[in-house]
Amino acid sequence: MGRAFPHLQPLGPTVSETAFQRCISPACGATYGTDEILVACPQCGNLLDVSYEWDRINVPTKLADFESKWTRRFDPLSLSGVWRFHELLPFAPPERIVTAGEGQTLLQQADAVAEFVDLDAGNLYLQYEGMNPSGSFKDNGMCAAFTHANCVGAKRAACASTGNTSASLAMYCAVSRLMKAVIFIGSGKIAYGKLSQALEFGALTVQIAGDFDDAMARVREVSSQLGIYLVNSVNPFRLEGQKTIMFRVLEALRWQVPDWIVVPGGNLGNSSAFGKAFAELHALGLIDRVPRLAVINAAGANTLYELFEHRQLRWQGGRGDLEPACQYYQELDAAKRKASTIASAIEINRPVNLTKCLRALEVCDGVVREVTDQEILDAKAKVGAGGIGCEPASAASVAGAKVLRSQGIIARSDRVVCILTGHQLKDPTATVAYHTTDQEKFNEVLGCRGVRRATYANRAIAVPNDLDEIIRAIQLYS
Ligand SMILES: *Cc1c(COP(=O)(O)O)cnc(C)c1O
Ligand SMILES: [Zn+2]
Repeated sequence: MGRAFPHLQPLGPTVSETAFQRCISPACGATYGTDEILVACPQCGNLLDVSYEWDRINVPTKLADFESKWTRRFDPLSLSGVWRFHELLPFAPPERIVTAGEGQTLLQQADAVAEFVDLDAGNLYLQYEGMNPSGSFKDNGMCAAFTHANCVGAKRAACASTGNTSASLAMYCAVSRLMKAVIFIGSGKIAYGKLSQALEFGALTVQIAGDFDDAMARVREVSSQLGIYLVNSVNPFRLEGQKTIMFRVLEALRWQVPDWIVVPGGNLGNSSAFGKAFAELHALGLIDRVPRLAVINAAGANTLYELFEHRQLRWQGGRGDLEPACQYYQELDAAKRKASTIASAIEINRPVNLTKCLRALEVCDGVVREVTDQEILDAKAKVGAGGIGCEPASAASVAGAKVLRSQGIIARSDRVVCILTGHQLKDPTATVAYHTTDQEKFNEVLGCRGVRRATYANRAIAVPNDLDEIIRAIQLYS
């Protein structure tokens, strides 16, 4: 089967009658049609949501009704793990929808990781989003943003990226041939697996002398000046696609709500989307309770942790005072402090979805924690030893669950889902360095700080090219 829709043709712009964009600030609440290309409210500058007139939409009365789509795998919209939930993100007509077979992911019960985190056997699940076509969860959101771009007739789409967003955008552009990708990357760390995808998929790749936060600021300017469609997670349609990660978690649990969802936090798009997903499912009466949400920062990029856990920044129904955030950003600038972590996908100091994430934390009675690069790499090694593997940023979820368990906030008997956001092969450099590098050279080779030992290293053994020596080595070590 083809990966994109053969019938997709450039058509005129379309507008939904039952979906619209709405400012997240209750004080403003301005609304805009789905035919408008916006990444912030023109009236007050806040983020936008995609909202629906649910009573005019034919939503299934129970989540199990979505299972009927499983028998329709020949239909690309039923095969897609995003679009089989179309009724829960109904902003585009089916003939405009773009898919590359995204969202066919796995919820894996991982007992070895449960033991590492100190949870009862059977209670830790890994939601493996590395199985997406471009290897990260970003495809869930990108197919939705891309679909919206297709609805409004965009010809070019742009993003700033630590790597996975650009890989995903480049893939959708290449596979659908509907648009040209323009990607902005910083000159710091970008994992080679990700860069290689963007280059091979043929994206116009602009490397800025700066970090992700700089690239993000520039891409906003450039896209508004040149009228290029922006697909970063400030794009409200992207988050609609990312809601489906939670739908699939529920699906895999036969529609039971787990106790905890644990997710790494970078730009906070995922955590924001998860909160919206649960708020909507609850409001629609499709679930009777929401899980708790834990967002995990890297210690070297811990803005949300600092603001939420130390400076009491809160959403408060949209009335929270954002002054502590402004204050904190000024402090970062004054100290010239840049984000720094081995987990390059979450190496972000100015998360664009901060306010939406605060809202999600309120909806899901959430907590925020930070984990060190040491904790991230050790957790990653444990995940990999279980056979599915992930990139460093993803392992922050497992490391964070371990911290929360040790603090008694997660109970041993809780059912916990950790999101593995990206594939193991995205960043082989970090993995190989962890397993092979001498401890003294560790931080130098990995470009990080504070990592003292590779606790779970699986070292290669060096043997002379001699049969007896080889046999002796194998018998000694196995
Ligand atoms: C983008 C990304 C993240 C961060 O997700 P946000 O939604 O920006 O918080 C985490 N892990 C991986 C692998 C990513 O690509
Ligand atoms: Zn507004």
